[in-house]
Amino acid sequence: MDVLLEVSGLAYSYSGVAAVRDVSFRVGRGEIVALLGANGAGKSTTVKVVAGALRAKSGSVRFDGEALEGQPSHVVVKRGITLVPEGRLVFAQMTVAENLQMGGFTQKAAVVARAAEQCFALFPRLAERRGQLAGSLSGGEQQMLAIARGMMSGPRLMILDEPSLGLAPLRVRELFRLIAAIAEEGVAVLLVEQNVHQSLKIAHRGYVMEKGVVVLGGTGEELLGDDYVRRAFLGR
Ligand code: ATP
Repeated sequence: MDVLLEVSGLAYSYSGVAAVRDVSFRVGRGEIVALLGANGAGKSTTVKVVAGALRAKSGSVRFDGEALEGQPSHVVVKRGITLVPEGRLVFAQMTVAENLQMGGFTQKAAVVARAAEQCFALFPRLAERRGQLAGSLSGGEQQMLAIARGMMSGPRLMILDEPSLGLAPLRVRELFRLIAAIAEEGVAVLLVEQNVHQSLKIAHRGYVMEKGVVVLGGTGEELLGDDYVRRAFLGR
């Protein structure tokens, strides 16, 4: 595998209470990797550490062969990682186009304009609504905008934290198609999801976390057929 992100022995505690104890996983170039686990397993904490929003207690994060742990978020973005956090945090009082411009803050104006057109090609529904206030978009459209905004910095790895949360089934299917399309553009995706079946259908590989530790890993297909995964997440 051509490794893009390598996380080893990551640990993080909130006020002395361990949330992530020993997490190791890899994401290959252009791969979709699902990070699964019950509520409170430590998935969001893990991705926040990778994205530089939290500082690890121990462990290492390497991106494209270089150490990344301890770097602040803006450096992490510049290196090519974008985190789209849980909860569609769009700028409600700004238009769709302005939201995209905000996502390109690390880039030059000409690059931003080109990236916006690429985003509109990938997200035609946003192109139709480029002058509309983001706060007036539907939930699914806001989630798309949050992802499109993340694409504006030209990432090589997109981390999506629970992108399907609160979306209607039809919109969820649309979202998963979009995630597959992003990977086809050569952008790797680390996908934190409660929607285990659909995530594993599009993921090349996945990991299962439990109480701050990775307990299982495999290809999407292997995990879909795994007894533990089926019992814990698929109700079978
Ligand atoms: P979910 O699927 O519910 O989002 P998760 O797997 O993403 O869960 P985390 O959000 O990483 O899990 O939480 C891991 C543990 O850390 C939980 O026990 C949680 O209560 C705790 N935790 C998370 N954020 C904080 C915080 N800001 N302060 C204190 N404890 C926290």
